[in-house]
Amino acid sequence: MTTYLACMGTRPEIIKMAPIYRTLKAQGEDVQVLHTGQHEEVAQALYKFFDMDPDFQIQLRRQSPSLSNLTAELLQGIDGVIDKVKPDVMLVQGDTASALVGAMAGYYHDVPVAHVEAGLRTGQHEPFPEEKNRELIGRLASWHFPPTPQAADNLRREGIAAQQIFEVGNTVIDAALWVKTQMDQDGASDALPADVRRFMQDHAASRLMLVTAHRRENWGRPIQLIASAVGVLLRLHPELVVVWPLHPNPSVRADIQNAFSVLGAECRQRLCLTDPLEYPALISLLAHAHFCLTDSGGIQEEASAFKCPVLITRDSTERQELVDAGGAALVGTDPHRIVEQASALLNDPWAYRAMQVQESPFGDGHSAQRIADVLTCARSTH
Ligand code: UDP
Repeated sequence: MTTYLACMGTRPEIIKMAPIYRTLKAQGEDVQVLHTGQHEEVAQALYKFFDMDPDFQIQLRRQSPSLSNLTAELLQGIDGVIDKVKPDVMLVQGDTASALVGAMAGYYHDVPVAHVEAGLRTGQHEPFPEEKNRELIGRLASWHFPPTPQAADNLRREGIAAQQIFEVGNTVIDAALWVKTQMDQDGASDALPADVRRFMQDHAASRLMLVTAHRRENWGRPIQLIASAVGVLLRLHPELVVVWPLHPNPSVRADIQNAFSVLGAECRQRLCLTDPLEYPALISLLAHAHFCLTDSGGIQEEASAFKCPVLITRDSTERQELVDAGGAALVGTDPHRIVEQASALLNDPWAYRAMQVQESPFGDGHSAQRIADVLTCARSTH
């Protein structure tokens, strides 16, 4: 039996690691879960939902908000857990500080690192520091699991040996399809919190735009611009309703709420500002949404599994595949561009259909099994 240490700390890492955890466990492997505490507010509900109780939790003190402080605390915490578990393989996902430091700590202990969702690149400074985190993990890992041919090409261009690269799709699609199947069996509306459920019942015949904005570079003025574009869209399109789960940061929430203070009563009742949604609720809305307006990487990927067009409120994306396939458009935070593109999706059925990709470029729901197969085979020949 192989002992894996799966190191994770943020919402997207937990969601994208869960299918691998479940698959390896089902095969009888020993998978120890290390929660780094990076996203404490939403993490515990996700662990519970995926039946993936952390075996170890780091208590971050965060004496300063700096990345160096976070990195130092994580390194010390992860180091101690590796000493205890003595894993055969370290599993990290994506581009967070938890993933980079997990890979570093594994490397320092001479534990081979498997990097899930490897090879995504914008080729630019943004997203900072995630772009560089992901690249650095590429220097440390022994197994690289890029989700797409483009991501695999990026790794080959950076000199990673071909026999270490395994293009497997993205486990986010495994998770999304699994949750959707569960909800189809159990009743999807049960997943929604009471305020959103009522809102959706009151507007059952309307067209839903799901909005999220969490990226730090969009805080402040950019988020106010996004909110003002949403206000214009509500005025222009009486058939439109908007659900926007707000980021927990109080100043981000205040910016958004202020931007809507000038909205007339009729438009206001077609807008639902709510708390961050639990994962099944988010998937339930995404599966029903006419389209979404988001800066989230994970939502770009999940939307493609439900043929839901995406307007991306960024200037570049490390998930260009969906843009190339026609399922997403980069609209930045300029209200004119947002209003123009969203109005096309609402007014023009051809434009809408052209943005409904038939097949997700990010995976088919079987990525975790492919990853488990590669790792099991590598360990059995070890
Ligand atoms: N998500 C969620 N509730 C929300 C917003 C997002 O469960 O209110 C999920 C979403 O389904 C996706 C993940 O969080 O799987 C994306 O995380 P986030 O947007 O924080 O990070 P990113 O993907 O941009 O790294």
